Amino acid sequence: MYLTRLIYASTISNDISPSAVADILDSANKHNKLNDVTGVLFFDDKYFLQCLEGSRYQTNETYSRLLLDSRHSDLVLLEFKDISVRSFPDWTMGFIPESVLSKSIYLKFSPQKSFDPYNLSSESAYKMLLELKEVLPE
Ligand code: FAD
Repeated sequence: MYLTRLIYASTISNDISPSAVADILDSANKHNKLNDVTGVLFFDDKYFLQCLEGSRYQTNETYSRLLLDSRHSDLVLLEFKDISVRSFPDWTMGFIPESVLSKSIYLKFSPQKSFDPYNLSSESAYKMLLELKEVLPE
């Protein structure tokens, strides 16, 4: 079974408060641990940008559940590709809060200053998440 990386963008639903993100992370960590899925979730109060790594079957299956989750909408798949190595092997689902994303980091990867994951190429989205992981405080 191939190792795969999936990256998507979505928008938090209107009736969900940003504090619901803690519940989402609990659920993600519980399921991902069982399924050998790792990755990272970035949230900026409006948009989610998430990277999932795992077997081709498990990343697909997880994304299918995500598509049904009413806590977010407008899911757009940015990348789904076979990979040889995980980038987030220690995180069942690492969380990167908005405070970690400075305008200068975002501008490096995007055509404009305000964060909009739908306007990121798959490569920029992936590289930005990698860079955010590096600057995340311990
Ligand atoms: P249950 O937990 O039994 O829930 C049943 C249904 O209700 C599901 O459709 C669920 O999506 C929905 N639901 C659950 N709680 C709420 C709530 N408080 N408000 C509204 N609807 C709710 N899951 C993973 O396994 N891995 C991940 O990495 C992951 N990342 C996520 C990232 C985001 C941005 C979001 C919004 C969700 C994420 N989830 C993740 C959760 C995922 O969407 C499913 O809710 C979860 O996997 C549980 O699925 P389940 O079939 O066991 O449903």
